Amino acid sequence: MRVFAGGVATETNTFSPIPTGLIDFEVVEPHEFPHPRRAEMNRLLELTRAQGWTFLPGLHAFAQPAGLTTRRAYEHLRDRLLDQLRAAMPVDLVLLPLHGAMVADGYDDCEGDLIERVRALVGPDTVIGVELDLHCHLTPRMVDRADVIVIYKEYPHTDIGARAEDLFRLCVATARGEIRPTMALFDCRMISMYLTPFPPMREFVDAISAAEGQDGVLSLSLAHGFPWGDVPDCGTRMLAITDADPAQAAQVAERWGRRFYALRHQVHHRPLTLEQGLERALASPRRPVVLADQSDNPGGGAPSDATFALQALLERGVTDAGVAMIWDPVVVHLAKAAGPGARLRVRLGGKMGPLSGAPLDLEVTVTGVIEGMHQEWPQQEGPPLQVDCGDAAALHCRGIDIIVNARRSQVFSPQVFSHFGIDPAAKRLLVIKSTQHFYAGFAPMAGEILYMAPPGAVAPLFTEIPYQRVDRNRFPWVDDPLE
Ligand SMILES: [Zn+2]
Repeated sequence: MRVFAGGVATETNTFSPIPTGLIDFEVVEPHEFPHPRRAEMNRLLELTRAQGWTFLPGLHAFAQPAGLTTRRAYEHLRDRLLDQLRAAMPVDLVLLPLHGAMVADGYDDCEGDLIERVRALVGPDTVIGVELDLHCHLTPRMVDRADVIVIYKEYPHTDIGARAEDLFRLCVATARGEIRPTMALFDCRMISMYLTPFPPMREFVDAISAAEGQDGVLSLSLAHGFPWGDVPDCGTRMLAITDADPAQAAQVAERWGRRFYALRHQVHHRPLTLEQGLERALASPRRPVVLADQSDNPGGGAPSDATFALQALLERGVTDAGVAMIWDPVVVHLAKAAGPGARLRVRLGGKMGPLSGAPLDLEVTVTGVIEGMHQEWPQQEGPPLQVDCGDAAALHCRGIDIIVNARRSQVFSPQVFSHFGIDPAAKRLLVIKSTQHFYAGFAPMAGEILYMAPPGAVAPLFTEIPYQRVDRNRFPWVDDPLE
């Protein structure tokens, strides 16, 4: 078989002031696979070659989540990928590892647009398989044009490679004529975030996984949705794939979708306020307490330069703490120039807008500088993903170690401290900018984990998101929208 794979991916926070342009995409070119930051492409390559088949990679472009993607960037990358597919034809499978919440100027549903163009190019008989992040806007257009869609089940996303394997297996069986996938969607009429390590999410994920392969059900996916995308298809949807039975697919999607909906009050994420988070953390007998600053997670499109949490720590005189990572390329530049051991007066953070808070004028000691720092994101299968943090510096200020970096990246690993020789396990408190992806790396070393929502660009306080285009006849605005 001839297997083509590639994609264009980002998660668009339509409320973010940071534009996503062509220079923001890391484009991995066909000759660069396998690549340390592309688990799904690597897995598809391995699986194809293990069969002795031909793997035909296109580009895979990914941009750190931010605001609206420019039309030029999306169309340029899309058209390059389509050109690569055209050059590779004929192909048996087209596998597209995408994200599923990319919004570009003029395109509410970039993935639907891309899949539709791929279908137009390859015709009805080539199998199109799509892998999505669970923070996607799963649209009817995507479901209509693709043959198979498989979505990550875990948040934190530790199953990127495992879901690529599901996608590959189902698409190969389809191409061989062993199955005929029929997909259906059910709108749960909910907007929230759902953390899968904890009950009852854990049990729900385990239950849908166990139901796959039973009674004609080929695959089940819960598209959690991405709350900061102000597009009409924003929200949680259940996807079922059955074998040559569209009516069964609709029934199964509705049954599991309603089962999830019944859990809405339990799975709905309710973070602590900044004050509550600090009170609980400072009262805890365990250490280190890991306190997630969910509101300034750059992985959701926030600037990552908010100062609310650091300011509160300084005001309270908290010591023996670490804060990571504040995106401030100017301060990183100053720290690099001055070097380790230097005393500096810096104006730190708070530069990107009102939701970043006020910049902090601090006297700091530079304790470390790392050019091109990386951190590792653990995965269930295969090696951890390598995440680029850009140049980074450690600053010490009044008992607090502050990690500052030059390339927006959320915190995935305690390595953001330990790379500087700072022992995160010995700290009383670690404040990190991440919504949930930190969990895989921090849970093994944390004394306690707490989630808080200071003011910020992606505060998970859903009823406060200023939607213009989303129908609010949904939970949590309405308590029982499906009744
Ligand atoms: Zn995600």
